[in-house]
Amino acid sequence: MAQVERQQWDVVVVGAGGAGLRAAIEARERGARTAVICKSLFGKAHTVMAEGGIAASMGNVNEGDNWQVHFRDTMRGGKFLNQWRMAELHAKEAPDRVWELETWGALFDRTPDGRISQRNFGGHEYPRLAHVGDRTGLELIRTLQQKIVQLQQEDFKEYGDYEARLKVFQECTVTRVLKTESHGGSAAEQRVSGTFCYERESGRFFVLEAPAVVLATGGIGKSFKTTSNSWEYTGDGHALALLAGAPLLNMEFVQFHPTGMVWPPSVKGILVTESVRGDGGVLRNSEGKRFMFDYVPDVFKEKYAESEAEGDRWYEDPDHNRRPPELLPRDEVARAINSEVKAGRGSPHGGVFLDVSTRMPAERIKRRLPSMYHQFKELADVDITAEPMEVGPTCHYVMGGIAVDSESAATVGVPGLFAAGEVAGGMHGSNRLGGNSLSDLLVFGRRAGLHAAEHAAATGERPAVSQAEVDAAATEALAPFHAVEGAENPYTLHQELQTIMNDLVGIIRREGEMAEALEKLAALRVRASRAGVEGHRQFNPGWHLALDLRNMLLVSECVARAALERTESRGGHTREDCPSMERSWRPVNLLCRPVDPPPADPAADRIALVRTRTDPIRPDLLALFEKEELVKYLAEEELFE
Ligand code: FAD
Repeated sequence: MAQVERQQWDVVVVGAGGAGLRAAIEARERGARTAVICKSLFGKAHTVMAEGGIAASMGNVNEGDNWQVHFRDTMRGGKFLNQWRMAELHAKEAPDRVWELETWGALFDRTPDGRISQRNFGGHEYPRLAHVGDRTGLELIRTLQQKIVQLQQEDFKEYGDYEARLKVFQECTVTRVLKTESHGGSAAEQRVSGTFCYERESGRFFVLEAPAVVLATGGIGKSFKTTSNSWEYTGDGHALALLAGAPLLNMEFVQFHPTGMVWPPSVKGILVTESVRGDGGVLRNSEGKRFMFDYVPDVFKEKYAESEAEGDRWYEDPDHNRRPPELLPRDEVARAINSEVKAGRGSPHGGVFLDVSTRMPAERIKRRLPSMYHQFKELADVDITAEPMEVGPTCHYVMGGIAVDSESAATVGVPGLFAAGEVAGGMHGSNRLGGNSLSDLLVFGRRAGLHAAEHAAATGERPAVSQAEVDAAATEALAPFHAVEGAENPYTLHQELQTIMNDLVGIIRREGEMAEALEKLAALRVRASRAGVEGHRQFNPGWHLALDLRNMLLVSECVARAALERTESRGGHTREDCPSMERSWRPVNLLCRPVDPPPADPAADRIALVRTRTDPIRPDLLALFEKEELVKYLAEEELFE
């Protein structure tokens, strides 16, 4: 029997990025005793890496902007697969969330007349991204952390304990969401009772008991070889939800950001922010041609410049010119770069050229893009004020995620479990616009915290965590220490998984390769069941990776299975064998559910795929678009309706 410490809280938030912190602040302000738990150091999350900015239609730089235009851009970017109610709430509430940040102490860059400055970004009709140079995420996290400290100081005054109502457990990992049966006793009546966790430094297990858990664990990028994501993005929240019985939505949609570093190999994949293009940077191939003019798809033709001169004029006079095609949504730009490289017109290290040096004075580059200047100088010995950067696509973001209720962020079928931020699906449809993640974190982080607090307050008798569940979670977590002879090295498995996903389920997909990926993933699951580590539980990175592997394999199976099923190309899902976007697929969602009961044989499929229909888009929202545009996206029967 595993003896583990148990603590009681009202709400447990898993993840301390923008979504988790915003959820925790809201839950605590609504009176819930709230615990935040994060895998890395407090303050080190993906949110901190966000460079370009946060999208909100404040209209500070162009008064034409409003929530309706932002909603339209978001739906177009997502190729109309977005959960439209989420896109509507997001567009309406994002400005309030940015202004709120300012009242909490965030210092955004300003316009000459003192308002929050907003910059251009791909797919956004107007300058919309509030920013702090190219370090916006850092300011966002700093502000949210400062707010948390302020709340803790209030608690100290009232209770003599800083952590009385809001406590952060840093460098601790959750391996299971725990559930308990409520009185009916059937599986459908199981509800959340807490989380099973371990402290990374000591290896000590503990349980946080709570009637409400918010998952805010971010994305899945570490399952791909070339990625802008850091070690934390192993799809933990996605897997925790699945294992608890909550389905994932549209996992085939993975965003490959068009511009990651391609050289030197040690930094391959690190992000080059879209602000470089938003501020005037252009893409050229090895022949010096601005090739993006050749890649404007029909659905976007009316909105994008046809000549370099018109594109360049747009930066000064956006009301009378169309935007340059370098600012098309990310999926379009990533595919175009991929095609240029394949056609032999790439840069020496397998990317294309991104140039700001001939477009702005050096002093302006250093002021507008300070992190990019230092990143290239220090990591690649390239001075971006004097020469172009070499860039290529890198796995960046997952649009698919935990299926949630748009209003409350509640998951499907698991009472007490909520999800917000990158781990949640639906908001971005098949492709996210840059800047729409930071706003998503704040809008839905707040909603998740609010509804989790309400759920906890409404829970009468607190659900008890059974010793049997704790024992099962402890046994699972310790399994890598009991591996038999011939144990597999988790590092090797990790690398093989990344190669499979990158090469067979990457930016351009083919039926045969995805089927091969699923076979290889099954073989890898068998080997991963024998993953073994040496040593002890005190800070043991091999052990941590062995535990992450379960999550990465589950999530990768979801991505591959859904990608094989969707026989069209849309947003972040490009099939060479099904190259066009099919209107008949518009109203189709693909849900990944765990096979129940989980098969004992590790080679057996873990995931069952279910097709569901999207909710019909509300007529007043459809009325925001021209009929001719809707005809390009909506299925025949939807148009009829
Ligand atoms: P994160 O900020 O990643 O936080 C996840 C948290 O979960 C972390 O605290 C982690 O430790 C914790 N966690 C994970 N697993 C566990 C576990 N098992 N147990 C406990 N804790 C766990 N978006 C924009 O809108 N604008 C931008 O300019 C922008 N730039 C970007 C630049 C880069 C380089 C990258 C990588 C992304 C960028 N994005 C941008 C995307 C955006 O930053 C992310 O989508 C967003 O920050 C995700 O926030 P989150 O709160 O969902 O997750």
